[in-house]
Amino acid sequence: KCQIRGHRVHRVSRPQNFTDYESIKQQYSPQIPEYFNFAEDVLDVWAEKEKKGEKASNPAFWWVNDRKQEVRWSFEELGFHSRRLANVLSGACGLNQQDRVFLVLPRVPEWWLVNVACLRTGTVLLPGTSQLTARDILHRLQTSGARCVITDESLAPLLDAVASQCSSLQHKILVSPTKREGWKNFGDLVRNASSDHECVKTRSDDPMTIFFTSGTTGSPKMTQHSHSSYGIGLTVNGRYWLDLTERDVLWNTSDTGWAKSAWSSVYAPWIQGACVFIHHMPRFDSHTVLETLSSYPISTFCTAPTAYRMLVQEDMSSYNFSNLQHCLCAGEPINPEVMGKWRNATGLDIYEGYGQTETVLIAGTFKGMKIKAGAFGKASPEYDVQVVDEAGNVLPRGVEGNLGIRVKPHKPFSLFTEYTGDPDRTAECYVGDFYLTGDRGVMDEDDYLWFVGRADDVILSAGYRIGPFEVENALIEHQAVAESAVVSSPDPIRGEVVKAFVVLTAEYKSQDQDQLKKELQTYVKKVTAPYKYPRKIEFVEQLPKTVSGKIRRVELRNKEWGRS
Ligand code: ATP
Ligand code: MG
Repeated sequence: KCQIRGHRVHRVSRPQNFTDYESIKQQYSPQIPEYFNFAEDVLDVWAEKEKKGEKASNPAFWWVNDRKQEVRWSFEELGFHSRRLANVLSGACGLNQQDRVFLVLPRVPEWWLVNVACLRTGTVLLPGTSQLTARDILHRLQTSGARCVITDESLAPLLDAVASQCSSLQHKILVSPTKREGWKNFGDLVRNASSDHECVKTRSDDPMTIFFTSGTTGSPKMTQHSHSSYGIGLTVNGRYWLDLTERDVLWNTSDTGWAKSAWSSVYAPWIQGACVFIHHMPRFDSHTVLETLSSYPISTFCTAPTAYRMLVQEDMSSYNFSNLQHCLCAGEPINPEVMGKWRNATGLDIYEGYGQTETVLIAGTFKGMKIKAGAFGKASPEYDVQVVDEAGNVLPRGVEGNLGIRVKPHKPFSLFTEYTGDPDRTAECYVGDFYLTGDRGVMDEDDYLWFVGRADDVILSAGYRIGPFEVENALIEHQAVAESAVVSSPDPIRGEVVKAFVVLTAEYKSQDQDQLKKELQTYVKKVTAPYKYPRKIEFVEQLPKTVSGKIRRVELRNKEWGRS
């Protein structure tokens, strides 16, 4: 029971998967078989359990949209539809194991079917975001040598514009009620296909997917994972971080082009037999999100920090969060201020996770663990995470350095295989015994990891190293600040200084700006070490972000320094 703004909310307490960090860390030793296929070895096993009545009756997949349309599939139905699509890929399209399939769809059910059908056929899935330009598409098709593309009407014209320059591309499949010349129709193909399909045998280390990184620091990188990497490695995310059981309904809001959708909308929940819930919103809308959390039996909610920042701007007192049991975020640091506001409104903490497209969960606060606001939590049982110097030497507690994952004597199976077509870049990630994440952090005496910033985002001002996140955290505590991005800016005396781009909350938009700048500077000096205060402040309507909602500080920094 907990008290939320005068309402009594009854939450049924349920067993947690993660109770004792140390014992889980000692016990966790996943078995990697020679052959592994997630469709056959996980999804079909759940379908079998469903048939025998050995599984809770939650659907495997529950999709709704803003027109109140709904799709619900059991594991058995997911198997039926995906087998038909598998026959299309290997039959009508004649694709072979390890051929690459480029998939660009918004959050529609077909996206999940393609994911599973690729597993069944052993074809390698390359998901992209719907916001790609023709140039992006050309680059991806040429680098990957994809033989098949599956998309909808919005992207088809861009694809047609570049297809002649992509010699490997042989099949274009359109997800649409209408027809388009030169394209096969997804619905027609699937309707006419048999649902008998034998899943191919895939080795655990065969390539399974190539995801693009978010492109926060530069061009997105094509990151290849094996069948076991996400298919087994994401057990840590599902069982221990998301704390899922087969009775849970998980809503993860990620865009389908981001690896987070594989993490939390495919593998982690289905490893646990939980229900994947999706609301296909044309664009993020706070009211719809809160309404959805109130009206569907969603037990677990995972979204980006940027979304939580928007949600806590709303008056949340009229919503009912009684079904919700566990809330999480990943992708960017979450501001302690926002965690506090969310807790006040829902009675629930936000548990943070840290990882990359290249990895599974690297560190996190697991349910049952003490939350230290501002820290990611502890290393995932999957990895030996250390703070290391430029040569890969482990640094003492409390000293800032590179966040690295130990790869010697054994490279973890759940680390990406390579950046496709870029061996130099792949090699650059490894130093000594470690894979370097490109992020900087500190480990404290309790083994908690604290984020300082991406290596490129750390500001060096008058001899001080300043992580943007600590300044942003201080700023957002002030009522005038909805969100901010802090970057370095040139200064004739200090070399570089701290500059904050600030989005104001509605009630402060019309205030005197010079006055407000001074107030914010004084405020930051008061709540954090004074040398970190932003000497420059610019008010903006919005911040540049990636599709996954991450602040692109690189863009602001380049503008400051007059770089293109
Ligand atoms: P690119 O590599 O193309 O520049 P990206 O690094 O943002 O983009 P992703 O793989 O989607 O691409 O994101 C991983 C990165 O996101 C991490 O390296 C880290 O910088 C950041 N990140 C993820 N989770 C957290 C977190 N909880 N706190 C702080 N940063 C996080
Ligand atoms: Mg990255």
